[in-house]
Amino acid sequence: MPEWVVHLYTGKYFCGISDKVYDEINRFVDSLGPEHDVNRIIVDGHWIPEALLYVASYAYEKWGYEGLKALLHHNLLDYSKTLSVGGKYGYLVKKYGPDCTIDIIRFTYKVLDHIKDDMSLILNMLKEGAEAYDIVKEVDDKWVGGIRYPKSFLNILKRENLIEFLESLINVVDELRDCMCVCVDEVAWLTWCDLDENRRNYCPACGRVVSSSEPHVLIPNEYGERLAYKLHRECLESLKTKG
Ligand SMILES: [Zn+2]
Ligand SMILES: [Zn+2]
Repeated sequence: MPEWVVHLYTGKYFCGISDKVYDEINRFVDSLGPEHDVNRIIVDGHWIPEALLYVASYAYEKWGYEGLKALLHHNLLDYSKTLSVGGKYGYLVKKYGPDCTIDIIRFTYKVLDHIKDDMSLILNMLKEGAEAYDIVKEVDDKWVGGIRYPKSFLNILKRENLIEFLESLINVVDELRDCMCVCVDEVAWLTWCDLDENRRNYCPACGRVVSSSEPHVLIPNEYGERLAYKLHRECLESLKTKG
């Protein structure tokens, strides 16, 4: 999965999530251990509703709107990393490099769109006054293979601030739609760089390898020596005077 610093950096600079909240979400999500994936079961581009609701409602209660946004961001980045390293997309990244990131972005957005569809269905039923049992049944009927944890689903549906929570969740999806592509692109790039360490050591300005003894800057600085792209300090200076 992407390093925490990548979560923090992309979350903060691309999606406007405070790193203080995100830091806690990183700890929370990755401390779920083996359950990590239990709570992010994505089938056919759908995040299983009761699994999503379970972690999302917890994050919302504990860290509010921003925590909810960080939670989705963290999981979707993990997901895009999984896509980038294995299976069909992993093969494409290996073979074609960053040219194929658009496919990974598209697939990640499919998950976002489905979250919105699935949650809107529940929200609309609630607003029409449907009972929790009716909602479980409706989702169960629609869901391929049925609901796996109906009890947990039912408990969440009985919460007091459910409508407010679901509206926030849908809002978060809309906000992430505006910024997630840059973050997923970053993850795919980093994955591609991982396949050949030299890739991040080529100075983008002059095309030469940046050796550790040469004065250089890290892009971004937050990533540190191991993850960041390197640029000769000299090249940076000449870019500045040109630009
Ligand atoms: Zn993770
Ligand atoms: Zn250079």
